[in-house]
Amino acid sequence: MKPIKKIVIAGGGTSGWLAASILSHQFSREQLEIELVESEQIGTIGVGESTIPPFVGLINNLGINEKDFIKSVHGTFKVGIEFPDWSNKGDSYFHPFGSLGIKFGVHEFYQAWLKAKYEGNDSELQSFSPCNVMAKSNKFFPPQQAKNSPLSGASYALHVDASLVAKYLNQYCNDKGVVRTEGKIVHVQNHEDGRISSLKLDSGKEITGDFFIDCTGFSALLIEKNMGIEYEDWLDYLPCDKAVAVQTKCSGEALPYTVSTARDHGWSWRIPLQHRVGNGYVYSSKHCSDEEAKKQLLEFIDGEPITEPVVIPFKAGIRKSIWNKNCLSLGLSSGFIEPLEATAIHLVQRSIDLFLKYYPDQECEPTHIEEYNRRMRMDYEEIRDFIVLHYCLTNREDTEFWKHCKTMDIPQGLKERIELFKSHGNLREGIDELFRAPSWQSVFEGMNVRPQKYCPRVNNLDSEMINKVLNEAKESIQKVVDQLPTHQEFLDKNCKAN
Ligand SMILES: Cc1cc2nc3c(=O)[nH]c(=O)nc-3n(C[C@H](O)[C@H](O)[C@H](O)COP(=O)(O)OP(=O)(O)OC[C@H]3O[C@@H](n4cnc5c(N)ncnc54)[C@H](O)[C@@H]3O)c2cc1C
Repeated sequence: MKPIKKIVIAGGGTSGWLAASILSHQFSREQLEIELVESEQIGTIGVGESTIPPFVGLINNLGINEKDFIKSVHGTFKVGIEFPDWSNKGDSYFHPFGSLGIKFGVHEFYQAWLKAKYEGNDSELQSFSPCNVMAKSNKFFPPQQAKNSPLSGASYALHVDASLVAKYLNQYCNDKGVVRTEGKIVHVQNHEDGRISSLKLDSGKEITGDFFIDCTGFSALLIEKNMGIEYEDWLDYLPCDKAVAVQTKCSGEALPYTVSTARDHGWSWRIPLQHRVGNGYVYSSKHCSDEEAKKQLLEFIDGEPITEPVVIPFKAGIRKSIWNKNCLSLGLSSGFIEPLEATAIHLVQRSIDLFLKYYPDQECEPTHIEEYNRRMRMDYEEIRDFIVLHYCLTNREDTEFWKHCKTMDIPQGLKERIELFKSHGNLREGIDELFRAPSWQSVFEGMNVRPQKYCPRVNNLDSEMINKVLNEAKESIQKVVDQLPTHQEFLDKNCKAN
């Protein structure tokens, strides 16, 4: 066994610094030397500010004080995403984090609710989600501090300032002995067998290592430019290929959720931070010019712009081998799915976790690499299909973009999932999928897709009893939420930005 003695990370965006943080937390300085190269001249993509709940788990697992982190990155709490105008213009739904519903013995909550609904109960599905009820009232309280209450099933993520996260993690890594080197990589050198041996910087400096992590963003300097690993694009399923982003001053209290509004040629995001708001318009360049997108974005926003709008081209897809020989690609260099459900940073986290599971020695056995690539592809495809679901269920036909989304071909697995759900409300769930039943049910219901029938087994439950339990559950969530502080009050009291 020849253990890896040194890992070189190329790139210091969110993925580079997250990789360095997780690895330096796992291995002592003596076990593993870590060097990160980044170029201030090139900079980072500067977006990527909405996260999902596993990110909070990661911060805690790294031993970082959550409140201190939120203060430093000017963060806010996020309990889900609001989706206006996706099904029809004027409609809106919420995809909450955490639980949706209460226990009905051996029966699924959703099926009991469906039966009640078909028998005339008027409760909204989302009134059984503590996160949705908090969002609607603009309230927030950490569920871990509300054990044994209807709030305990809630969950949360964070909105963060991406550049402050990189800065924070840079300091974290510095304390753990990670070496940061400033410079532009101008050449990648290989061993005879194709493995990478070193990176050459514009200063002439050469950085050698046993293993390399490509975090160079869309330029994919190591995995693509050097190793020639191709990119598989998913534009047929995800037609948006550009975004324009602009930051604005805060207008009013920070909301505890992201807003992702369907627009004429795509959708726009609104991510509230403590000191500013991040906004963007994700669009299809086939249907909308950059100028038109910029113009529309400036019309949507509700605060004064503090940056110039920046256009960011991208291509949805996945690297054919995310890991090749002694090079792992991470973040934007490994693949990209548009940020509708804010999954990219999570995929970075997931990629490193899985890398640690299959952690190699210097030989980098192909069997490990193949299994890793297979697992990561499953994750990417699962997320892709969940994102496509948001588009393909639309009823909108008011623009060419939405007509296309309504009729476009979708992945076979997704077709099957939709058909399965439409008949009896069943879901096909994998073993370790990211989006579980509450997520799928929220999007289906939000997009006005309700099963034709409920599962007949639920007829074992007495209708009156179901109604009683539903009414009590709804009231008890609302009652607890009514007593909570507003999101802004909670932030000001506990994690006001430094
Ligand atoms: C429009 C848009 C919105 C997004 N929104 C979200 C979101 O809400 N939530 C989410 O989870 N994700 C989101 N993402 C994805 C998220 O931005 C990325 O996953 C995350 O920022 C990681 O990027 P990265 O570190 O891979 O790349 P980058 O940030 O591009 O970093 C690349 C690094 O490589 C360095 N580099 C490149 N070339 C060289 C060179 N030659 N020499 C030296 N250094 C070099 C750069 O200097 C930089 O440090 C979004 C992405 C886009 C495009």
